[in-house]
Amino acid sequence: MHSLNVELGERSYPIEIGSGLLGNPQSLQPHIRGKQVCVVTNETVAPLYLPRLLDGLSGLDRVDTLELPDGEAFKTLDTVNRVFDRLLERRHNRSTTLIALGGGVVGDMTGFAAACYQRGVDFIQIPTTLLAQVDSSVGGKTGVNHPLGKNMIGAFHQPRLVIADMDTLATLPQRELAAGLAEVIKYGLICDAPFFDWLEANMPRLLEREPQALAHAVERSCRDKAAVVAEDERESGRRAILNFGHTFGHAIEAVQGYGNWLHGEAVAAGMVMAAELSRLRGDIDAALVERVRTLLELAGLPVAAPEGMGSGQFLDAMAVDKKVLDGRLRLILLSALGDARIVDDSPREQVVEALNCCGA
Ligand code: NAD
Ligand code: MG
Repeated sequence: MHSLNVELGERSYPIEIGSGLLGNPQSLQPHIRGKQVCVVTNETVAPLYLPRLLDGLSGLDRVDTLELPDGEAFKTLDTVNRVFDRLLERRHNRSTTLIALGGGVVGDMTGFAAACYQRGVDFIQIPTTLLAQVDSSVGGKTGVNHPLGKNMIGAFHQPRLVIADMDTLATLPQRELAAGLAEVIKYGLICDAPFFDWLEANMPRLLEREPQALAHAVERSCRDKAAVVAEDERESGRRAILNFGHTFGHAIEAVQGYGNWLHGEAVAAGMVMAAELSRLRGDIDAALVERVRTLLELAGLPVAAPEGMGSGQFLDAMAVDKKVLDGRLRLILLSALGDARIVDDSPREQVVEALNCCGA
């Protein structure tokens, strides 16, 4: 088992990564402070992993469970209210612990419920998608969608523990695995060149879901994200580099309709666009852009704009992206492999040219 610590002063917490962790009382119970627990999961994940998790919780006084419907469409205040209903019905008090068992949707909602319930209770993340293991379970952002915007209602609330059990990835659909790999590749690009090299050499092992390769990739990704978050917990500066590829990616998601392209797929194409723009600025060479394309393609991810989506549609969609401050388009670009920075002075024509290089 690998273990690492997210260093956030009194809000620090461990991330445990390995196999066979879910059903192991030793991995969970030392982190549960009170006598009550409520496991929040969804209808897809519950039949696969809830019984094993409950084995790991045996011996506790009070374990309630709640199964939510599956899907981003249910990441709403209404659904979070169901968590509050359950907690109040079962008289959970301020020393309760919420456990999120599922992907990022379950994790974001459970974390938000924990941030709000009686002004804040403990929560533990047990992410079961690669994306949730390398991204959404680390960093403390929690929340739900609003009809007028994704992730617009939320809170920062750090978990007390994250358990990433590689065994859960065995049942993940291949497309979801690839979507998680997009964020993994992102860490290599923005802050960890040796990891990018490792990914180039080991992508086939990851696609075969070799547990040791997966554990290494998850650990390295969490370490990289945790280091960025530790520097800038509330995203007043450097944390923004985690949005590499995301401004272009959000435009794809918005224009295609959320759900048609998975987030990680949109980010993959967006990272190629950002890399092309970095090249046009003279910051990186064409060979690096090709390495980015090749690795993403090897992972089974898209590297071009969606069929029929033109640069005008990108620019319109990006103008409403929440990363636009004071009317200037802020983008995360590469200065070198493993080095990203925030740029807000890219001329419109250059952005269009980068998009054209990717079929828009
Ligand atoms: P998801 O939670 O919708 O999971 C994807 C699908 O896989 C779902 O159908 C889910 O039920 C299923 N699933 C989960 N685990 C499984 C398993 N082990 N085997 C088989 N199927 C499984 O999506 P996601 O990609 O995990 O997370 C996306 C969400 O995360 C978005 O809402 C996004 O906004 C959020 N997010 C949050 C942060 C953050 O910092 N809080 C960061 C990135 C993404
Ligand atoms: Mg992302």
